[in-house]
Amino acid sequence: MDKILVVEDEIKLARFVELELKHEGYEVFVANDGRTGVEMFFEKEPDLIILDLMLPQLSGIEVCRRIRKESDVPIIMLTAKGETMDKVMGLDSGADDYMTKPFAIEELLARLRAFSRRKTPAKTSSSTVLTLKDLTMDLAKRSVKYKGEEIELTKREFELLQYLIENKNIVISREQILNNVWGYDYIGETNVVDVYVRYLRTKIDDKYSVKLIHTIRGVGYFAKDEE
Ligand code: CA
Repeated sequence: MDKILVVEDEIKLARFVELELKHEGYEVFVANDGRTGVEMFFEKEPDLIILDLMLPQLSGIEVCRRIRKESDVPIIMLTAKGETMDKVMGLDSGADDYMTKPFAIEELLARLRAFSRRKTPAKTSSSTVLTLKDLTMDLAKRSVKYKGEEIELTKREFELLQYLIENKNIVISREQILNNVWGYDYIGETNVVDVYVRYLRTKIDDKYSVKLIHTIRGVGYFAKDEE
Protein backbone atom coordinates (compact mmCIF):
# COMPACT_ATOMS: atom_id res chain seq x y z
CA MET A 1 0.00 0.00 0.00
CA ASP A 2 1.48 3.33 -0.90
CA LYS A 3 -1.13 5.88 -1.99
CA ILE A 4 -3.29 7.41 0.70
CA LEU A 5 -6.08 9.93 0.28
CA VAL A 6 -6.78 12.16 3.27
CA VAL A 7 -10.18 13.90 3.24
CA GLU A 8 -10.23 16.36 6.11
CA ASP A 9 -11.44 19.95 6.29
CA GLU A 10 -9.35 20.95 9.31
CA ILE A 11 -6.43 22.30 7.34
CA LYS A 12 -3.89 22.01 10.15
CA LEU A 13 -4.79 18.42 10.94
CA ALA A 14 -4.82 17.48 7.25
CA ARG A 15 -1.41 19.02 6.81
CA PHE A 16 -0.04 17.30 9.90
CA VAL A 17 -1.28 13.88 8.79
CA GLU A 18 0.01 14.50 5.28
CA LEU A 19 3.51 15.33 6.52
CA GLU A 20 3.63 12.37 8.90
CA LEU A 21 2.50 9.94 6.23
CA LYS A 22 4.94 11.34 3.68
CA HIS A 23 7.65 10.95 6.26
CA GLU A 24 6.70 7.26 6.49
CA GLY A 25 7.09 6.94 2.74
CA TYR A 26 3.46 7.06 1.63
CA GLU A 27 2.30 9.06 -1.35
CA VAL A 28 -0.39 11.36 0.04
CA PHE A 29 -3.25 13.30 -1.55
CA VAL A 30 -5.35 15.72 0.45
CA ALA A 31 -8.87 16.95 -0.17
CA ASN A 32 -10.45 19.53 2.13
CA ASP A 33 -14.09 18.84 1.30
CA GLY A 34 -16.21 15.81 0.48
CA ARG A 35 -16.84 16.53 -3.17
CA THR A 36 -13.16 17.00 -3.91
CA GLY A 37 -12.51 13.83 -1.93
CA VAL A 38 -14.74 11.76 -4.22
CA GLU A 39 -13.17 13.33 -7.31
CA MET A 40 -9.67 12.65 -6.05
CA PHE A 41 -10.57 9.08 -5.26
CA PHE A 42 -11.43 8.43 -8.90
CA GLU A 43 -8.50 10.43 -10.19
CA LYS A 44 -5.74 9.10 -7.91
CA GLU A 45 -6.98 5.57 -7.13
CA PRO A 46 -5.58 5.51 -3.58
CA ASP A 47 -4.92 2.27 -1.70
CA LEU A 48 -6.55 3.60 1.46
CA ILE A 49 -8.67 6.56 2.48
CA ILE A 50 -8.66 8.49 5.73
CA LEU A 51 -12.01 10.21 5.80
CA ASP A 52 -13.35 12.79 8.20
CA LEU A 53 -17.03 12.45 9.12
CA MET A 54 -18.04 16.11 9.20
CA LEU A 55 -17.05 17.70 5.91
CA PRO A 56 -18.31 20.58 3.79
CA GLN A 57 -19.97 19.83 0.42
CA LEU A 58 -20.54 16.12 1.08
CA SER A 59 -20.45 14.43 4.48
CA GLY A 60 -17.99 11.64 5.18
CA ILE A 61 -20.88 9.17 5.21
CA GLU A 62 -21.99 10.25 1.74
CA VAL A 63 -18.41 10.17 0.43
CA CYS A 64 -18.07 6.68 1.85
CA ARG A 65 -21.28 5.48 0.21
CA ARG A 66 -20.31 6.83 -3.18
CA ILE A 67 -16.88 5.24 -3.03
CA ARG A 68 -18.32 1.95 -1.79
CA LYS A 69 -20.45 1.67 -4.91
CA GLU A 70 -17.25 1.41 -6.91
CA SER A 71 -14.58 -0.03 -4.67
CA ASP A 72 -13.78 -1.86 -1.46
CA VAL A 73 -10.72 0.28 -0.78
CA PRO A 74 -10.10 0.40 3.00
CA ILE A 75 -11.65 3.48 4.60
CA ILE A 76 -10.75 4.76 8.04
CA MET A 77 -13.34 7.22 9.30
CA LEU A 78 -12.29 10.08 11.58
CA THR A 79 -14.81 11.28 14.11
CA ALA A 80 -14.70 14.16 16.54
CA LYS A 81 -15.30 13.67 20.24
CA GLY A 82 -18.98 13.47 20.98
CA GLU A 83 -19.85 11.83 17.69
CA THR A 84 -20.12 8.37 19.13
CA MET A 85 -19.03 5.33 17.21
CA ASP A 86 -22.50 3.85 17.28
CA LYS A 87 -23.85 6.92 15.62
CA VAL A 88 -21.19 6.85 12.98
CA MET A 89 -21.10 3.17 12.29
CA GLY A 90 -24.83 2.80 12.79
CA LEU A 91 -25.22 4.72 9.59
CA ASP A 92 -23.67 1.68 7.98
CA SER A 93 -21.68 3.67 5.52
CA GLY A 94 -19.25 0.88 4.78
CA ALA A 95 -16.19 2.25 6.58
CA ASP A 96 -13.70 -0.41 7.70
CA ASP A 97 -12.47 1.32 10.76
CA TYR A 98 -12.79 4.55 12.66
CA MET A 99 -10.68 6.73 14.92
CA THR A 100 -11.74 9.43 17.35
CA LYS A 101 -9.99 12.78 17.16
CA PRO A 102 -7.64 13.72 18.65
CA PHE A 103 -5.63 10.57 18.03
CA ALA A 104 -1.96 9.71 18.35
CA ILE A 105 -0.27 9.55 14.97
CA GLU A 106 1.38 6.27 16.04
CA GLU A 107 -2.04 4.70 16.32
CA LEU A 108 -2.96 5.79 12.82
CA LEU A 109 0.34 4.46 11.47
CA ALA A 110 -0.22 1.14 13.23
CA ARG A 111 -3.60 0.79 11.56
CA LEU A 112 -2.19 1.64 8.16
CA ARG A 113 0.46 -1.04 8.59
CA ALA A 114 -2.23 -3.50 9.60
CA PHE A 115 -4.18 -2.79 6.44
CA SER A 116 -1.16 -3.23 4.20
CA ARG A 117 -0.19 -6.47 5.96
CA ARG A 118 -3.60 -7.91 5.40
CA LYS A 119 -3.53 -7.03 1.73
CA THR A 120 -0.38 -8.94 0.83
CA PRO A 121 -0.76 -12.63 1.71
CA ALA A 122 -2.69 -14.56 -0.90
CA LYS A 123 -5.38 -16.63 0.72
CA THR A 124 -4.29 -20.26 0.75
CA SER A 125 -7.71 -21.50 1.72
CA SER A 126 -9.38 -19.91 -1.28
CA SER A 127 -11.78 -22.77 -2.01
CA THR A 128 -12.87 -23.29 1.58
CA VAL A 129 -16.48 -23.25 2.53
CA LEU A 130 -17.16 -22.75 6.22
CA THR A 131 -20.40 -23.77 7.85
CA LEU A 132 -22.19 -23.00 11.07
CA LYS A 133 -25.57 -24.66 11.43
CA ASP A 134 -27.51 -23.56 8.34
CA LEU A 135 -25.08 -20.82 7.50
CA THR A 136 -22.41 -21.25 4.84
CA MET A 137 -19.53 -18.97 4.00
CA ASP A 138 -17.78 -19.35 0.69
CA LEU A 139 -14.41 -17.70 1.18
CA ALA A 140 -13.51 -17.75 -2.49
CA LYS A 141 -16.74 -16.13 -3.61
CA ARG A 142 -16.89 -13.95 -0.49
CA SER A 143 -20.51 -14.95 -0.12
CA VAL A 144 -22.57 -15.83 2.92
CA LYS A 145 -25.81 -17.74 2.81
CA TYR A 146 -28.35 -18.76 5.41
CA LYS A 147 -30.46 -21.70 4.21
CA GLY A 148 -29.44 -20.75 0.70
CA GLU A 149 -30.46 -17.13 1.04
CA GLU A 150 -27.71 -14.62 0.34
CA ILE A 151 -26.72 -12.28 3.18
CA GLU A 152 -25.00 -9.03 2.31
CA LEU A 153 -22.08 -8.31 4.62
CA THR A 154 -19.50 -5.57 4.57
CA LYS A 155 -15.87 -6.58 4.27
CA ARG A 156 -15.30 -6.21 8.01
CA GLU A 157 -18.44 -8.08 8.97
CA PHE A 158 -17.40 -10.90 6.67
CA GLU A 159 -13.93 -11.12 8.22
CA LEU A 160 -15.37 -11.07 11.73
CA LEU A 161 -17.84 -13.82 10.93
CA GLN A 162 -15.11 -15.85 9.25
CA TYR A 163 -12.90 -15.59 12.32
CA LEU A 164 -15.74 -16.58 14.64
CA ILE A 165 -16.65 -19.60 12.51
CA GLU A 166 -13.05 -20.70 12.04
CA ASN A 167 -12.93 -20.81 15.84
CA LYS A 168 -16.43 -22.07 16.40
CA ASN A 169 -17.38 -23.44 19.80
CA ILE A 170 -14.35 -21.68 21.30
CA VAL A 171 -14.75 -18.53 23.36
CA ILE A 172 -12.71 -15.70 21.88
CA SER A 173 -11.85 -12.48 23.68
CA ARG A 174 -12.41 -9.06 22.18
CA GLU A 175 -8.64 -8.52 22.12
CA GLN A 176 -8.13 -11.72 20.09
CA ILE A 177 -10.81 -10.59 17.68
CA LEU A 178 -9.23 -7.16 17.36
CA ASN A 179 -5.78 -8.58 16.75
CA ASN A 180 -6.93 -11.11 14.19
CA VAL A 181 -9.70 -9.29 12.40
CA TRP A 182 -8.65 -5.68 12.70
CA GLY A 183 -5.01 -6.62 12.75
CA TYR A 184 -3.53 -4.12 15.13
CA ASP A 185 -2.55 -4.31 18.73
CA TYR A 186 -5.27 -3.12 20.99
CA ILE A 187 -4.78 0.53 21.83
CA GLY A 188 -8.16 2.06 22.34
CA GLU A 189 -11.67 1.00 21.95
CA THR A 190 -12.49 -2.70 22.01
CA ASN A 191 -16.15 -1.88 21.78
CA VAL A 192 -15.71 -1.63 18.03
CA VAL A 193 -15.95 -5.43 18.27
CA ASP A 194 -19.27 -5.20 20.10
CA VAL A 195 -20.63 -2.86 17.48
CA TYR A 196 -19.73 -5.24 14.67
CA VAL A 197 -21.08 -8.26 16.52
CA ARG A 198 -24.33 -6.33 16.82
CA TYR A 199 -24.34 -5.77 13.05
CA LEU A 200 -23.90 -9.46 12.43
CA ARG A 201 -26.68 -10.29 14.84
CA THR A 202 -29.00 -7.84 13.15
CA LYS A 203 -28.27 -9.30 9.76
CA ILE A 204 -28.27 -12.97 10.75
CA ASP A 205 -29.49 -13.90 14.23
CA ASP A 206 -32.35 -11.39 14.35
CA LYS A 207 -33.35 -11.78 10.75
CA TYR A 208 -33.53 -15.57 10.82
CA SER A 209 -34.42 -16.00 14.50
CA VAL A 210 -31.40 -18.16 15.25
CA LYS A 211 -28.70 -17.72 17.83
CA LEU A 212 -25.33 -18.19 16.19
CA ILE A 213 -23.21 -15.66 18.03
CA HIS A 214 -23.15 -16.02 21.79
CA THR A 215 -21.82 -13.56 24.35
CA ILE A 216 -19.89 -14.62 27.42
CA ARG A 217 -20.10 -11.62 29.70
CA GLY A 218 -16.73 -10.13 30.53
CA VAL A 219 -14.93 -12.67 28.35
CA GLY A 220 -15.91 -12.44 24.73
CA TYR A 221 -17.87 -14.14 22.00
CA PHE A 222 -18.28 -17.46 20.32
CA ALA A 223 -20.08 -18.98 17.40
CA LYS A 224 -21.98 -22.03 18.51
CA ASP A 225 -22.49 -24.99 16.23
CA GLU A 226 -23.98 -27.54 18.55
CA GLU A 227 -27.24 -27.25 20.49
CA1 CA B 1 -14.44 18.03 9.93
